[in-house]
Amino acid sequence: MTQTGAAARKKIKATDLMGRMMADYFYSLNEAATTRIRKVAWCTSVGPAELLRAMDFEVHFPENHGAMLGSTRRSTDLIPEANAVGYSPDICSYLTSDIGAYLKKTTPLSKAYPGITQVPRPDVLVYNTNQCRDVQDWFGWYAKELGVPAIGISSPKNVVDVTESLVDDVARQIQALVPTLETISGSRLDIDRLRETVTRSRACSEVWKDVLETAKHSPTPFTFFDGTIHMGPAVCLRGTQQAIDYYRVLLAELRQRIADGVPAVEGEKLRLYWEGMPVWGRLRQHSELFAELGASVLASTYCSSWVFPAFDGADPFRSMARAYLELFIVRSEKYKEQYLQDMQSRFQVDGIIYHDAKTCPYNSNNRYGLPQRLEARTGIPSLVLSGDLNDLRCVSDEQMKINVEAFVEQLMERV
Ligand code: SF4
Repeated sequence: MTQTGAAARKKIKATDLMGRMMADYFYSLNEAATTRIRKVAWCTSVGPAELLRAMDFEVHFPENHGAMLGSTRRSTDLIPEANAVGYSPDICSYLTSDIGAYLKKTTPLSKAYPGITQVPRPDVLVYNTNQCRDVQDWFGWYAKELGVPAIGISSPKNVVDVTESLVDDVARQIQALVPTLETISGSRLDIDRLRETVTRSRACSEVWKDVLETAKHSPTPFTFFDGTIHMGPAVCLRGTQQAIDYYRVLLAELRQRIADGVPAVEGEKLRLYWEGMPVWGRLRQHSELFAELGASVLASTYCSSWVFPAFDGADPFRSMARAYLELFIVRSEKYKEQYLQDMQSRFQVDGIIYHDAKTCPYNSNNRYGLPQRLEARTGIPSLVLSGDLNDLRCVSDEQMKINVEAFVEQLMERV
């Protein structure tokens, strides 16, 4: 396969601003945990962060810590620590990396943010099983270990239509968390603050969507690999004004790139969709591999999962419930198939890559015939890459490279 040799990654200027914001976020969390002046809640990535933030909790997301362990390539050494206390190497490698790091008393936060010595200790753990059951087990382990309550939402799965009765159920479960959270925080929920927080989450979601949609332009100014880095504020700071302001800056830069004709990948010849989790420890390699082949991986389900059109400050509990239920990962195969077809069409992609992540079946949508059904409908070819989000023992770099090169060659013959 001939490579174009143009793999240099173009730095997005807003990255420095994001770095400062994320540093402020982690130092603020650390201050709350060490001085005890504010309470700390741990929350799953699409758990009720709006409620926690409105009730003045500092919010830590263990999945974000899991991704940091993956991207710093520390997971593979830490996972066996969790295996040794009974957590299988086959379950979520965020969970096993994170518990392994706790048991080894280590965290990448210390290197990234001098002065932080450990993950901020929680006063409460709040989960939503909309994504998987692993999060409940994960938080349950810490509840026992740290002697703090784990509370949460048991979500329906494989949802075909987000009906009013499903919304009622989840909204009631979110409301039922309030008395416990009030006891822990020592103050009553202010419904107006919740409305404002939900409104800000909606605004964040809208501008993040606009950022992702710049990739509709050909050539794209922004790739999936950029998105995995720049989604940090959408995950950790949704519900805050800083996140909204940040994405406005990023959006302006990307629109300027489009106006100036600056592509993310020089000589873009192919446009690809990524379905599934990234391989955190291989972000740079994968970004460079595709770029060298003249292929832009420019849209994904993963980055789009932090787009929540349902949030509505006028109806905070029910709109949170709806937003958490409308998530791709919660939905039926039929819904997912249609969603992927729409995304392929909107972003004008030439091919789709499915990442079959060994330890996350919930984000691996290649296992029940979906790629074959979709390809029969659209004629757009697909490739399945076996790997994992964090456990690099499940990743064969050589095999991935061979498979990607062969797939790109096949696609090049069609364009
Ligand atoms: S969805 Fe997958 S990666 Fe995320 S917490 Fe669950 S098992 Fe882990």
